Amino acid sequence: MRGDQSHQGHLARKRFGQNFLVDREIIARIVSSIAAQPGDHVVEIGPGLGALTVPLLAACKHLHVVEIDRDLIARLREKYSEEQVAIHEGDALKFDFASLPAPLRVVGNLPYNISTPLLFHLAEFAEHVRDMTFMLQKEVVDRMVAEPGDEAYGRLSVMLQYRFAMAHLFDVPGDAFRPAPKVTSAIVYMRPKPGADLLCRDAALMGRIVTAAFGQRRKTLRNTLGDWLQAADYEALQIDAGLRGERLAMEDYVRIANHIGGRDA
Ligand code: SAM
Repeated sequence: MRGDQSHQGHLARKRFGQNFLVDREIIARIVSSIAAQPGDHVVEIGPGLGALTVPLLAACKHLHVVEIDRDLIARLREKYSEEQVAIHEGDALKFDFASLPAPLRVVGNLPYNISTPLLFHLAEFAEHVRDMTFMLQKEVVDRMVAEPGDEAYGRLSVMLQYRFAMAHLFDVPGDAFRPAPKVTSAIVYMRPKPGADLLCRDAALMGRIVTAAFGQRRKTLRNTLGDWLQAADYEALQIDAGLRGERLAMEDYVRIANHIGGRDA
């Protein structure tokens, strides 16, 4: 029933972003796009009541899960043996994904309230990861895959495109969940780009530059990056100081960070 906040006897907790998948066709489509095989090292973030866990387990025979809700953890423990599902109780935002075997395949219908910090946390483990398939708010997926000139283009686009090749696979309507969220969701596929760390010598510096450049979207680089770049730097970089940050591609930000890093070293 629409509006009903409980599912399979569990009262959905808003603070944990709990919207449980109920649409069988959508579940089958997500699981077939993951295409897990026996021997794959799969970790599911937020298994909840197991909508994805059950079919994933059938495909790959063993799975890791990270779940924060104690009630759901208790239900998972009742349902699965440790040989089938290795249950990690805790906050995915603090979880050390490098403690799991590599190359890791990370999947999940993510809690929307923490999706951006979670994506940034996961980006730290890119070298440990084979690929990631997530359900997120469509608006977030639009931002992830946006290009310069798109309205959705911003810090999330640049910082994730630096580390991952990403593809928007398909949309999922709100009525595929209980309770039904008001927004449309989407499935995104992410694969780490090899050697991203070599491309940019100081990713933290690049992060600060991107944050500044998009912090005041209407201002030009001359204003937003004032402390970092002088006229000679713009000339060396062949970048127009009168542009807004939203006009620059991810590769331009890498060049700016490497230029500043090299100059100040
Ligand atoms: N996978 C289930 C499904 O598709 O029906 C549940 C998805 S629900 C959108 C998000 C899940 O993530 C819930 O099980 C919730 O308890 C869990 N969760 C929320 N915050 C979390 C966190 N910080 N760390 C780990 N799990 C979290």
